[in-house]
Amino acid sequence: MRICEQPEDLTPGGCVLVPTMGGLHEGHLELVRLGAAIARERGLPGGCVVSVFVNPTQFDEAYDYERYPRTVERDAAMCADAGADAVFAPSVETVYPTPESRRDPVMPGVAYEPGLEDRAREGHFAGVCLVCRRLFELTGARGAVFGEKDWQQLQCVTAMVRMLGSATEIIAAPTQRDADGLAMSSRNRFLSDEDRQRGLALSRSLLAAGRETTPGDGERAMRRVLDDAGVTPDYAAIREASTLMSLPEGTPIESVTWRAVVAGRVGSVRLLDNMPWPASEGAGPESGG
Ligand code: AMP
Repeated sequence: MRICEQPEDLTPGGCVLVPTMGGLHEGHLELVRLGAAIARERGLPGGCVVSVFVNPTQFDEAYDYERYPRTVERDAAMCADAGADAVFAPSVETVYPTPESRRDPVMPGVAYEPGLEDRAREGHFAGVCLVCRRLFELTGARGAVFGEKDWQQLQCVTAMVRMLGSATEIIAAPTQRDADGLAMSSRNRFLSDEDRQRGLALSRSLLAAGRETTPGDGERAMRRVLDDAGVTPDYAAIREASTLMSLPEGTPIESVTWRAVVAGRVGSVRLLDNMPWPASEGAGPESGG
């Protein structure tokens, strides 16, 4: 597997990019498999490129940035097995060559209006928008795969690309979960056994919401489940799926695509999760998207 530090080392002519911060797990590998299949289907010369870059501009806590797993050799081996063609692991200087390149991101409303991740992690989506735009430019990505696990991020990047009139198509991949329902995350390795059990309240709260028939009842159901587990959420909400704004009470359910979203700290780890709302018939932890 080639680990490229410079964009010139990548095969030109277009690729499908899978942007990651490394510390890869099975959830990321599903994105890589999808990216590789699409790159093959479209005959893109650059194939599937996985970027591994711990982006300093999207961290709101220095401690989180410092302890973020950095395992690029292992990540590259996993990417090779999943069908990637190259790993792009640029330096901070390559991504942000000047002080100006860290400023003035193009940010759609969903990056700062909903009061969800944007409120809980100030500045986070500015960093996400900056780095994604830059990585798309550096790699010449024709498509980029993002996980539904980070739902607001997926909506931000989709809307940003639309605002820019960019040639990069955003492709969504479903959330991968462990057998117990916990959404996979590079940060799960920092959970104690006890915190992991408590963390299951997030996916359980989404499933409970999915059984209710109004967003208000759904949100109350989420809070009950979280409360019983002793988890104080940053938010537990049911919103319009792409803008993530709340809609007036009484909005006809069938006229809107909804998403239930939840985040909160468990021990030293911040967990987030989301599912379509209301749940489709027979939805279980593994079908929650
Ligand atoms: P990360 O490096 O973890 O910030 O994420 C890189 C990409 O992987 C993002 O598009 C995430 O949404 C995606 N991702 C992370 N965890 C999962 C998961 N459990 N299922 C699906 N996609 C994921």
